Amino acid sequence: MSLSVVSDAVLHEQRRLAALHEYRLLDAPADDELEAVVRVAAMVAGVPTATLNLIDEHRQCQLTTTGFAGCDSARSDSMCAIRFETGKFTYIPDASLDPTYAPNPWVTGALGNVRFYASAPLVTPEGHALGSLCVFDVVPGVLDNAQIARLQDLAGVILALFERRRQSRINAELAIQAERSKKFTDTVLEAIDVAVVAADQRGRSRLFNRAAREWLGMAAAEAEPAADRYTLLAADGATPLPPDRAPLHRALHSGGFDASELIVRRTGVDDRQVTATGRPLTARDGTPLGAVVALHDVTADRTHRRALERAHAELAERGEQLAATVAELRRSNTELEQFAGVVSHDLVAPLGVVSGYLELIADVHEADLDEQSTAWIEKALSATMRMRRLIEALLSYARAGNAPYRPQPTDLAEILEQVQLDLRTAIADSGTELTIAPLPTVDGDPTLLRQLLQNLVGNAIKYRDPARPCRVAIAAVPDGDRYTVTVADNGIGIPPEHRDRIFDMFARVDGTAAHGHGIGLSTCERIVDRHGGRIRVADRPGPGTTITFTLPAVG
Ligand code: ADP
Repeated sequence: MSLSVVSDAVLHEQRRLAALHEYRLLDAPADDELEAVVRVAAMVAGVPTATLNLIDEHRQCQLTTTGFAGCDSARSDSMCAIRFETGKFTYIPDASLDPTYAPNPWVTGALGNVRFYASAPLVTPEGHALGSLCVFDVVPGVLDNAQIARLQDLAGVILALFERRRQSRINAELAIQAERSKKFTDTVLEAIDVAVVAADQRGRSRLFNRAAREWLGMAAAEAEPAADRYTLLAADGATPLPPDRAPLHRALHSGGFDASELIVRRTGVDDRQVTATGRPLTARDGTPLGAVVALHDVTADRTHRRALERAHAELAERGEQLAATVAELRRSNTELEQFAGVVSHDLVAPLGVVSGYLELIADVHEADLDEQSTAWIEKALSATMRMRRLIEALLSYARAGNAPYRPQPTDLAEILEQVQLDLRTAIADSGTELTIAPLPTVDGDPTLLRQLLQNLVGNAIKYRDPARPCRVAIAAVPDGDRYTVTVADNGIGIPPEHRDRIFDMFARVDGTAAHGHGIGLSTCERIVDRHGGRIRVADRPGPGTTITFTLPAVG
């Protein structure tokens, strides 16, 4: 026997057993119908005993018997097992005389004393032999052709009954599956916050999920929402939707649509703004079944969107106002600067004349003047000096805004050298110790930067603390595409509450009025502004002031 024949036989037997188990007959009670068929078989054969045998892998199971008590026995002992797989009807008038059946324990007396034996195999439509319908007697007997034909009919009936049992089992399983899957779908539909409404082809509403029931004000038990309980409106919130524009109607009669916006209104409840998506439902073969609509609540989205639109509009309006204010400010600033420039210029000349004549009087009439007159002349001269300084400060403020801006690579170390020269008297008189860290080359206007540093170092000296030697440190650190420059002193400091307003025009800290006019830092801010930078008073621990400002790096 070749290997392939063996494996074919094994495969065949596996399939046969699978078919047998698929019917789930073994170890299950036979029903009344099967018992009746076995009884009829005994009667047809004219014998007292008949059995319905099923052949398992190792045993013969007598599913139902008549005339004797059935039992399970080994497959190797079974008379039916000898030929049932041939699919042919077996008829042995006296088994004790048949060489194949005579040694069988059912014949020898070990299990029984069978003499007459006939069996109709039970073969499925797929060709799997499950067992046989067997009639037998302890005495020899005969069968005519009609009896054989009727016994074969009964075997067919038995298979039909098997098949019916199998089908009803499958149907029950399918029903359970369908029930489970329906439960799952129902749970999903109830859980989601999208309202789903479906109707059959005639437009009768069939399904409202939890969200739909809530939105339309339906009680759980209600099949249909009461028409007076809600209104559907167009997205404008004012125009009621005519019935033929209702989403379900549209989906049923004019095909699918996407994200159509509408409003669901109910008394006593806030309007709900929704987007509706509708689809007609069709069976696989194209038969129309109805339509489904999904409604998505976009109330919050739309509220946000409206708030955003309002904010945008407000911002745009404010932007316009701001632009107008800036333009106005620019215009008045330019006018002011022109005014300051002209006035300062026209004041300097007469002031020069006044102080010139005062000095002349003091020189020429030195001998004639009494002490009182000399003191008055000195006071007048110092007043003109103060006025000159104010005018110079105004002029330099005007220049800082008006002078042409000519940025170029400017070495801050060189600028500092010039500043030291400009302030040499003040530095020497105050005994100021300047510490200058290595400074970078920046992209700036040298004239304006000189004015800037002169003001800041000048202030550091001006507002020194008489209680300690004046120290001023200048340093710069790179910061991306710019440098942050620091001018730090150990002077009297600026109280924190003044730090924000100190760059305003004419702003001074109380008690320092005698030293200046409050124009220097405004001028500094202008210069830094023109370089696209920022100037501020830094917070620092301990006494003194640190001013920082940014300047663009070269390149
Ligand atoms: P001015 O020095 O001409 O008054 P500024 O605009 O330069 O004007 O300065 C404004 C005020 O800021 C000054 O009156 C002074 O009170 C304060 N201030 C500026 N720099 C310093 C500094 N380095 N230390 C202490 N106070 C300062």
